Amino acid sequence: MRAKPDALTQAAALLARRLDQLGRVSDEPDRLTRTFLSPAMERANALVGGWMKEAGLAVREDETGNLIGRAESARSGARTFLLGSHLDTVRNAGRFDGPLGVLLPIVALAELRRRGVALPFAVEVLGFSEEEAVRFSGAYLGSKAYTGRLRVGDLDLRDARGNTLRAVIEAHTGTGKKFAPPARVHAPRDVLGYLEVHIEQGPVLESEKLPVGVVSAIACQIRGRLTFRGKAGHAGTTPMRLRRDALAGAAEFVLAAEAFARRQPQLVATVGTISVVAGAANVIPGETVLSLDVRHPLDAKCHEARTRLLALARRIARRRGLTVRWQPTMDHRAVACAPRLTSLLAQSVRAMQGRSLALVSGAGHDAVVMSTLTPVAMLFVRCRGGLSHHPDEYASPADLETALRVVVDFLERLAKRTET
Ligand SMILES: [Zn+2]
Repeated sequence: MRAKPDALTQAAALLARRLDQLGRVSDEPDRLTRTFLSPAMERANALVGGWMKEAGLAVREDETGNLIGRAESARSGARTFLLGSHLDTVRNAGRFDGPLGVLLPIVALAELRRRGVALPFAVEVLGFSEEEAVRFSGAYLGSKAYTGRLRVGDLDLRDARGNTLRAVIEAHTGTGKKFAPPARVHAPRDVLGYLEVHIEQGPVLESEKLPVGVVSAIACQIRGRLTFRGKAGHAGTTPMRLRRDALAGAAEFVLAAEAFARRQPQLVATVGTISVVAGAANVIPGETVLSLDVRHPLDAKCHEARTRLLALARRIARRRGLTVRWQPTMDHRAVACAPRLTSLLAQSVRAMQGRSLALVSGAGHDAVVMSTLTPVAMLFVRCRGGLSHHPDEYASPADLETALRVVVDFLERLAKRTET
């Protein structure tokens, strides 16, 4: 006779089913896309809100579409521990990136309730409305609103249809009231910390044969546009020695940047887009624009790498008679995960899988913004082939179960520590 699966195995199976179900809530018929305050996001919030209620949470949605489920503590004056991630997706997304960090805590809290565990802190499960920057180009709108970091200037961002963020929010609330960026929900002293569970989006856990890992830091990210300018000319009549080819200069930079980053431990540098302005098959490129993305776990190293890469671009440009211009578009500082929460999380991970591996997150997460409010910790879950932002994104039921066991154990440890 097969042994009856225990409660957590059943809970993990429920989590997997819910991830499937939520993965079918989409703005597009044949692929998964949910963007800020879209009809699918409203349906997603209704679905997830229902699961929150089943787990005993009081549910509300704020004006920016953040879904918030809260359970009070029996203890008076208790602080609040936050768990969450985002419910929006990229276009043609997978079903784990974001939703895992919202649905897993709901199931974990339901399990603690079933066991009759009374937590000495209140908990909030947060489903942020925007992290992927698909509809509006500013990422983290949801967690920024929650932490009181949305700025009046952000409200002028426009989507592809030309609607401002302000207009979209005001249409959603439908009260006719003018929207102003909200104040933060909690003062820092009232919050114990924030835990985000997320798929790794990289290949390290798979290569180490580990279901989960603990994030030590979220890397510094610098991004911008590099414009090489030379001189457009006729492709037939301009001799090679008289050319100032902006694309050839940019191409040399792409390879030089790759070689540079390969020599620096932990540095990653990527040219992800390149375009020739008014390019044509019979015209020597006069202007080329490329994107440069630089990441490193340490701010100083990240900034130093940017400086050296720009010097490299200038040297290449000078030698070729080109000019080069840098326009920064993003500069996110590195975020160190909180040692206290992280070591507690590592204890839970060791208890479940024997070994805890510390990982640097090369991708940004809501935890970046949440770190401005409270100490943060992140648990990464192995995903097949390191693949994310793709319909084939996949975390196995067994790995989901390990992650769930870790979070339940972590909350119990945190409860013990908070009581003493
Ligand atoms: Zn994500």
